[in-house]
Amino acid sequence: MVSKTIFQKIIDRELPAEILFEDEQCIIIKDINPVAPVHVLVIPKKPILRVEEASTEDAKLLGHLLLCAKNFAKREGLKNGFRIVINNGKDALESVPHLHIHLIAGKPMQWPPC
Ligand code: 5GP
Repeated sequence: MVSKTIFQKIIDRELPAEILFEDEQCIIIKDINPVAPVHVLVIPKKPILRVEEASTEDAKLLGHLLLCAKNFAKREGLKNGFRIVINNGKDALESVPHLHIHLIAGKPMQWPPC
């Protein structure tokens, strides 16, 4: 049996996390190691490994994750903007193999990111 990721354990309430939002398709949690005043993760309950592994049947879910991210930003009053990041694979420093969207905000950021 493949072992569960940290995020699957959080979804299944086997590990603690600060859950800021939940619906039938996803959760939003605070990142344990924030890089900005606001740093949350939008995580689908469906355990898609990474965006590369998503299929056309996941199109609605992927859209839902983005809408949940922007709704969160609106609820939090992030009027100066926010950044959305998905790390996919080794070069991008993906560290948890369960698709997640980083939503980062609360300070001016730099570009390019690398
Ligand atoms: P990745 O590098 O895969 O794009 O992002 C994984 C993110 O998950 C990192 O920003 C990391 O700080 C966060 N993270 C790792 N373990 C935990 C955990 O146990 N709880 C929470 N809330 N975040 C975690």
